[in-house]
Amino acid sequence: MIVIMRADATKEEILKLKGKIEMEDCRVSVVQGEKHCILGLVGDTTKIDPSKIEANEFVERVTKVQQPYKLANKLFHPHDTVIKVNDKTIGGDKLAVIAGPCSVESEEQIVEIAKTVKESGAGFLRGGAFKPRTSPYSFQGLKQQGLELLKIARQETGLPIVTEIMSADVIDEFERDVDIIQVGARNMQNFELLKQLGKTTKPILLKRGLSATIEELIMSAEYIMSEGNENVILCERGIRTFETYTRNTLDLSAIPAIKRLSHLPVIVDPSHAAGMWWMVEPLSKAAVAVGADGLIIEVHNDPENAKCDGQQSIKPERFDSLMKDLVVIANIGKKSV
Ligand code: PEP
Ligand code: MN
Repeated sequence: MIVIMRADATKEEILKLKGKIEMEDCRVSVVQGEKHCILGLVGDTTKIDPSKIEANEFVERVTKVQQPYKLANKLFHPHDTVIKVNDKTIGGDKLAVIAGPCSVESEEQIVEIAKTVKESGAGFLRGGAFKPRTSPYSFQGLKQQGLELLKIARQETGLPIVTEIMSADVIDEFERDVDIIQVGARNMQNFELLKQLGKTTKPILLKRGLSATIEELIMSAEYIMSEGNENVILCERGIRTFETYTRNTLDLSAIPAIKRLSHLPVIVDPSHAAGMWWMVEPLSKAAVAVGADGLIIEVHNDPENAKCDGQQSIKPERFDSLMKDLVVIANIGKKSV
């Protein structure tokens, strides 16, 4: 349920109503919009009578929220969320581009890639240290050593680092060392992990599960937000369909859909969606054209010998020319690169 206050409602009136609702065991989040203040009611609202709230002359109207998610709901928070990461942002009018290898392999590799993607205009560096692999015999990542190498690359370039967490056991290290904590597709519904991440202060990049609906993705964001961390970035990375030509099917319609339902920023991962390097450029352009707030792209300086996902990684020179094309497309959507 949301309560929209009249534009002339005073601070005292807002606080009085908030206190009254909280006495009914509901949590109230107060969002100050440009004109109106909005009270979002979270929890069991069955005891609340909307007509009684509407009887207050400083209340404009009360609306019932149909969707099961509240904090992530656009109704609660009509303005799009812009997440600050050090001196950068995700959401709003600047396209956020995260680039880097699937996995961190060596200091030389990660530092070189970090430098080249930065030069091309990427704002963030990606690189997996803990890798979720389908086979237990595949390269599992450099783990803690990988985190140390990412920190070196950050020091060399100033790029904030984005890397995946697979277990809550390492949450303290991640909270201390990582700028954006990624939750991979396979862990989108690891609710215990999500709740723990909700207690941290770092932005969370939440990837859509392989077979998850848009609502399930937003509900997973709600898990994180309900624990206090409202800095969640959603990521469409392709879903399982009957099509086998591509690794997954990029659900581009999820972007405008999520942007209508939620205020959270949404980015697209064309690399894991397609699974083929030559599709990354056209899919990136399409994602920006449908309104994505950013991209996460796998870039490798030696994809033929990559330890992971070389087939879907683009080389630095292709990334550079893609960034130039994205400037034009982002502009049409009133975004800058
Ligand atoms: C990744 O980004 O490295 C990754 C494993 O992605 P996903 O969780 O989307 O498969
Ligand atoms: Mn990968």
